Amino acid sequence: MPSTPAWVEAALNERRQQSLLRQTVTLAGPQAPSATFGNRQYKAFCSNDYLGLANHPVLIKGLNDAAEQYGVGGGSSHLVCGHLAPHQALEEALAEWLGYERVMLFSTGYMANLGVISALAAKDRPVAQDKLNHASLLDGAVLAQAPLRRYLHCDVASADKLLAKLGSSGLLVTDGVFSMDGDLAPLAALSSVAAKRDWLFMVDDAHGLGCVGTQGRGSLALEGLNADSLPILVGTFGKAFGTSGAFVATSHSIADYLTQFARPYVYTTAMSPAIAGATLTALNLIQSSEGQARREKLARHIAYFRQRVGQLPVKLMASNTAIQPIVIGESHTAIKVSDALKSLGIWCTAIRPPTVPVGSARLRITLSASHTDDDLVFLCDSLECVLTSLQ
Ligand SMILES: *Cc1c(COP(=O)(O)O)cnc(C)c1O
Repeated sequence: MPSTPAWVEAALNERRQQSLLRQTVTLAGPQAPSATFGNRQYKAFCSNDYLGLANHPVLIKGLNDAAEQYGVGGGSSHLVCGHLAPHQALEEALAEWLGYERVMLFSTGYMANLGVISALAAKDRPVAQDKLNHASLLDGAVLAQAPLRRYLHCDVASADKLLAKLGSSGLLVTDGVFSMDGDLAPLAALSSVAAKRDWLFMVDDAHGLGCVGTQGRGSLALEGLNADSLPILVGTFGKAFGTSGAFVATSHSIADYLTQFARPYVYTTAMSPAIAGATLTALNLIQSSEGQARREKLARHIAYFRQRVGQLPVKLMASNTAIQPIVIGESHTAIKVSDALKSLGIWCTAIRPPTVPVGSARLRITLSASHTDDDLVFLCDSLECVLTSLQ
């Protein structure tokens, strides 16, 4: 065995000393509110399965049916021979749902963002991003070797000033719902800024689609935008859709352009056709009355949570979404709180830098339509116990 380089050990030690070491834990069973880690059962409050579809019998059947008919593997990239009928059907259904000319599938949201931004930005086409945008959006600009500048979080005036300063027109990019804070970007105002300065506007709505807006159509619907005012919309399937993969919704010409120049689209195997089939089932469910009922249940959980936790000695974030973070501050304290919750039977992994800014380690509590009212009572009672003893 070759010995481990000293710099590897040093980097690990540094992370360990700062309470920042990350590790995987194995979940022995499906993604569901009752989760078994090690040999103990917990109520889990940190998955992104907001509508409780990840283990839904209708999705499992959709996956099985598509696998029976189209197999498991895509076999190649979309452009060689890996674009199967379920991919095409899913693209068309998404385009119709959201009101765009075209939709292109990607294997993950991370790759969709790398692909879209690296193709559309360049040395002379800068990228302006919200300070709290997802890491994959920032990495897209790095892959493009494009200038990357950031404006103050959700601050339209700051974005406008930045675009004016940058001069040459480029790409204005924001999360729709911010992944670690749960708040909403001012999309309509940002869209106007982009249009006024002749910049392309792009939104990553990983946490909004399926959950917010009429029919679950996401931040786009909440802010009254459409394919003209929001020419590039990225969505992911790993959250409310309960599967995996992602898409970009856009115009014919931009889709044709991305088909030539988005390397993370061209040089990778298409997502499994069985996953595409399951995702189409998820989309139908999201549009149905069951989807609506799940969104309403989620909204009731959010209201109850905010009413209860609002009485505790912590500050609630300005979020009305399923993401309800409690900022603790120091990483080691956040781990202590997370461990105390674990001992009571609540699983909520502490989120620490560099995922969130230094000094803002947090419990990123997420609620799901699959939680019961009793689960919410148990969560809030446990938080009350842990957070008041922290004082
Ligand atoms: C989760 C997430 C992604 C990445 O999507 P994956 O499909 O998990 O790779 C991209 N953007 C945002 C805002 C996300 O929260």
